[in-house]
Amino acid sequence: IIEVKNLAKNFGKNEVLKDITEQVDPGQVIVVIGPSGGGKSTFLRCLNLLETPTSGEVDFDGENLTTLDTKRVNELREEMGMVFQGFNLFPNMTVLENIKLAPMKVKGIDDAAATKRAHELLKQVNLDDHADAFPSSLSGGQAQRVAIARALAMDPKVMLFDEPTSALDPEMVGEVLNVMQELANQGMTMVVVTHEMGFAKSVADRVWFMADGYIQENNTPEAFFGNPQTERAQDFLSKIL
Ligand code: ATP
Ligand code: MG
Repeated sequence: IIEVKNLAKNFGKNEVLKDITEQVDPGQVIVVIGPSGGGKSTFLRCLNLLETPTSGEVDFDGENLTTLDTKRVNELREEMGMVFQGFNLFPNMTVLENIKLAPMKVKGIDDAAATKRAHELLKQVNLDDHADAFPSSLSGGQAQRVAIARALAMDPKVMLFDEPTSALDPEMVGEVLNVMQELANQGMTMVVVTHEMGFAKSVADRVWFMADGYIQENNTPEAFFGNPQTERAQDFLSKIL
C-alpha cells in the first residue's frame, strides 16, 4: 500500500534520509525504532509528504505522491491518519466536535452520520462517556485516544504514529497501546515509531531499525530482538533493553 523507493531527504547539508527503499503491505504493522535524531519522524512525514523528499519516490496505493499536484496529495493524505506525540486537539471544541470536524468539513458528511460515527469511534477507544468533555479536562492518555479516534474518523487506509506514548505519564501508556493493538488486530495498516519494545515484540509484523539515514535492518520482531544483525542495532538494543 506504501512503496518507498530510494527516498532521500536533506535539510541543507544534513543528509537525514540517505537511501530508503521499503514497502508496507496492506494490514501490516511496521514498527520503526532507532536512535534519536536518526530520521524516524522525518521518514514518517515523507510518507504523507508533510516533508518533501529531496529525491526518490513515495507511492501510496499505486500513485507516486512526489509527482502529483497539491490537490491530489491532499486527497491522498486524508487516507493516511497521523497521530503525534502531542495531541493537538482543538481546545475550544468538545471531544465529539473534534472528531466530527474533518469528516463534515472535508468529506461533507452530514451531522447525524458524523455524530453516529464519532460515538462508534469513541466506544472503540473506550471514551464514549467523554463525548461532551473539553480537551482540557482529559488526561494525556484520554486525549491521545481521542486523537486516534479523530484520525480514524476520516476512514484512513493507513495510520502513521510518531511516538504516540512518549509524552504520557507511564500509567497511561498502556491504555493507548491497547487501543493501537486492537486497531492492529482489526487489520489496520500501521507504521508506528515508538520506543515501546513490548509493543514492537507483540504487535509488529516487521521491525525497521533506522539509523544514520538508512533502514539498517528489516526483520521480524523475533529475529530482530533475538539476533540483531548489525553492530549498530546490537549497540542500540544493549542501551535500551
Ligand atoms: P527522535 O527520536 O528524537 O524523535 P528522529 O529519529 O525522529 O528523532 P528526526 O526528527 O527525523 O529524527 O530528525 C532527524 C534530523 O533531521 C535531526 O538532525 C534534525 O535536527 C533534523 N531535522 C528534522 N526536521 C528538520 C527541519 N524541519 N529542519 C531542519 N532540520 C530538521
Ligand atoms: Mg522523532
